Amino acid sequence: MMEYYDKLNLAIKNTLEDERLKYHLQYLDEVVKLASIIIENTKDLVVDDYSTNVPLDNSIDIVTNFFSKINGEYASRFLKLLKEKDIYDGKACNIVNFNKIDSPRIDRSEVRDDGSLHIDYSETLADAFNISHEFTHKFSKQKYKDSTIKQFLCESTTLTIEFLLEDYLLESSGYDKDEIKIRKTNRLKETYDDATAVIFEHTLLKLYKENNGMLNEEILLNYLNSLPKDSKLYELFFHNSKRYLDDIVSKGHLQFSYRQRYVIGVVLASYFHDSITKDESYKNRLFYLIEILGHTDMTSLDDLKALEKLEIPVIEDGNFKVNPNNIEKLSDCYKKEVNDVLEVQKENNHIK
Ligand SMILES: [Zn+2]
Repeated sequence: MMEYYDKLNLAIKNTLEDERLKYHLQYLDEVVKLASIIIENTKDLVVDDYSTNVPLDNSIDIVTNFFSKINGEYASRFLKLLKEKDIYDGKACNIVNFNKIDSPRIDRSEVRDDGSLHIDYSETLADAFNISHEFTHKFSKQKYKDSTIKQFLCESTTLTIEFLLEDYLLESSGYDKDEIKIRKTNRLKETYDDATAVIFEHTLLKLYKENNGMLNEEILLNYLNSLPKDSKLYELFFHNSKRYLDDIVSKGHLQFSYRQRYVIGVVLASYFHDSITKDESYKNRLFYLIEILGHTDMTSLDDLKALEKLEIPVIEDGNFKVNPNNIEKLSDCYKKEVNDVLEVQKENNHIK
């Protein structure tokens, strides 16, 4: 049987040699900058559970009205997809399948490889967020089901939609403000863990190279002990390293390529949200991104040009790149989202 650290070194080696991760590895330094924005600007967030019952039909109505408000075409595509069938395994089946679950915590909603949509619903406000999130993915689903650029940016569009749905619910529904903001609180909290993991794996890769592919417990402990004891990084690595390492060893692969899409997603969604709040016509750029994600790949020069036209603050000179000015801009946008959910948490603590 292989030792723990042999498995870890092999997992890192396999990741480094994975052709499909060429761009993920090439741009990891840039993604770490975005992860740092999250680590530096997130305060302690308390996650609450949903308490209000929302029947599935109500959530579908909410999403229909929300899509109508931001983009009429999305509303009609949404209603059409709900009724449409496609051929799976030789049989005509619904494209969208709903599955009742007991708690949003075990949600596994997704667009599957065959293009069908699986929605777990819990009869809470989480359902409206899930449905609009997954349908936004579906709107981008075209021939390249998992292009590199989509892996980088796919969650930017869906998370922007979630942020816009929160605004819509706050304005147009009678639901409790706390209840409406649970989704974003949970998102920011989960992404904080993704950001920590991305920075951890980035460090792991650095140590792996410095030690010629032979990491062991001593090397990792020495590194940990070299960090200032009162630093955030020490605290984060101290509490989470074991869990991240176990995950890598059991899966045989580093996890940053999956986790980084939420890191990029939340930061860019904060940026889109801020831009749309200031100028409503900016939402057309969001729709453009949803559209082109369906048929671009980072290998195509034309597609990169199409992205550059969007002027999003992470693409520069045909590369994924975050310059210092944009870090500042993105940090400000991200802080607004954190403050948005903290506002409710502060009020609650006040009452309690
Ligand atoms: Zn998603």
